[in-house]
Formats: sequence, structure tokens, C-alpha cells
Amino acid sequence: MAAVETNELTAKTFSVEDAHPDWCGGCGDFGILSAVKQALAKLGRSPHEIAVISGIGCAGKLPHYIGTYGLHTLHGRALNVATGVKVANSKLEVLVAGGDGDGYGIGAGYLVNSGRRNVDFTYLVHNNGVYGLTKGQASPTMRRGDQTKAMAEPAIQSNVNPIGLAIASGYTFVARGYAMAQPDLVDLIIRAMKHRGTAILDILQPCPIYNDLMTIDFFRGSDVGQPRVYKLADEGFDGYVKDPQDPAEIVAKQQAAIAKSFEWGDRIPTGVLYQIDAPTYEDGLAARQPALASSSLFDLMNPGKNIDALEDAYR
Ligand code: SF4
Repeated sequence: MAAVETNELTAKTFSVEDAHPDWCGGCGDFGILSAVKQALAKLGRSPHEIAVISGIGCAGKLPHYIGTYGLHTLHGRALNVATGVKVANSKLEVLVAGGDGDGYGIGAGYLVNSGRRNVDFTYLVHNNGVYGLTKGQASPTMRRGDQTKAMAEPAIQSNVNPIGLAIASGYTFVARGYAMAQPDLVDLIIRAMKHRGTAILDILQPCPIYNDLMTIDFFRGSDVGQPRVYKLADEGFDGYVKDPQDPAEIVAKQQAAIAKSFEWGDRIPTGVLYQIDAPTYEDGLAARQPALASSSLFDLMNPGKNIDALEDAYR
């Protein structure tokens, strides 16, 4: 990683100079990588303040191409590792990246339990409807009856609704983005990272190699004469719970978000579907051990320990 020579952070600051992303041409992962780097630059956090944790799959390669701390972990287990990283060093800004197969399939149990903990990190799910790394099998988000060019027969299972599952699991920030809508995706990532608690951002991502249904043309709406992807905010939708003590408002906002999440046809909504301010897991830990309110667990366990040389070695 290149040393940060000026105080001005740009998307290039977070680039790995000799990295040549191992993704196919036209893959939506490039759009997500670009948006993450732009968001980090706009937030003004230095590379050593950020950790990117990933699972297995095409999306799991993301940490290799960002000049921050990173861990490429196990299939479906990225959320667990991210939880450990954040709890050990609450000063780090933690991002998690993974695919829909990784997170909504093998990782589904961890997905649910991460929602109810509300640790302060951001989960970016690259949702392309297929298992790209293993040749395009149907993933949990592929709809019953759909058949891509990589499938011998149409899917005979129903799809998971990630937005509904996230809301039911207790996620406090639930949004959907589109990999090719760059300024909007950058904005959504920034909002997710600024949110205090676990934020999940389901990002629709074309896989041009294996999924010939969720193509750029499909999202552009070439066949229906209008862009399929639209912004909820443009139509006055507001998923933010203004009074977290009001159960009626919470239920109404959750119902509205879930209703929108089923919209998939000529129009596909993007933006923040649901957001609520709620105590985090870290708040609970600090209530038990007040020193954690101002210090990380790492600092408490290693008082006065200077690890500058170690950090420099891995920067
Ligand atoms: Fe992207 Fe699909 Fe290629 Fe994987 S297989 S890198 S998701 S285009």
C-alpha cells in the first residue's frame, strides 16, 4: 500500500498500487469497490482506521484491493470475525463484504444473530443472484422459475427477501443500492457507515458471466422504456423512525419497508428502507464495564503498549 503523503484523502489513497482485481470485465464488483473507496475518502478516515472483513466468493476478494486493514475469512463467517474485530478494537471503522450466497445462504444464521446484536459496523452484500465463483448456480436471491444461461433448469425454490429478513432480525439500518449507480451508492455507503449500529446494504450487482437476467440493460429498463431502478427518497419515502419509543411508528415503518422490498418487476426501489436509533452491543458492554465507554478492549488489555512498529510493518 502506498504511504499517505498528504492529508488529503482521495479514492486513490485507498487503492492498492499493484492490485489487478481478479474480476471479469463488466462485473458490478468494480462499481462497489469504486464506491467504497470514494466513500472512505469522503468520510476522511485514514486507511489505518479502517478494517474490511470478507467471506468467500467473488465479493470476498474486496479487502485485497483496498489499502486498509483487511481479513479474507471463511464462507459465511465474515460477520462473526467482524464482530470480534469491532468488539476488540472499537476505534476501528469496520466494513464487511460478501456475496448473497455467502451471507444469505451458508451465513444466514450469523446474518440473523448479527442483526439482534447491533454491533456498530456496515455489511455490504454484493447481490447478483448467483454463486459466481463456482460457475453460476442459483443463489438464495434467485426467484422461483428464473433460469439463467448457466442453469440447466429453472429454479424450483423461492427466494430469500433480504430486506424483510434483515428487518425481522433487528438490523437498525436496512438499505438497497445498485452497483452501477455510483453517486447514489457512495452516498448510501456513507450513510450506512455513519449509522450507529449494524447497517446492512444489499447491493444489486450484475454478474455478466453467469446471470443474463440481472443485466445492466435489465436495470436500465431497456425493455420497459424507463429505468427500473429508482430512488425511494425521490417519491417521498422516509424509512427513518423518528420516535424509537413509539411501537406504532416502528411497526408502520417496518411494514412500509417490507412492502417496498417486494417490489420487483418494472420498478425496483433503492435507498434507505428502514432506520432506527437503538442501543448498540458496545453500549451494553460499556454498561457492564464502564471503562469501555472511552477505551477499546485492546487498549484496556494492553495499557501503554506501543505497537507503532507493528502497525507500520503492516501499513
Ligand atoms: Fe463478477 Fe460474475 Fe465474474 Fe464473479 S463470475 S467476477 S460476480 S462477473
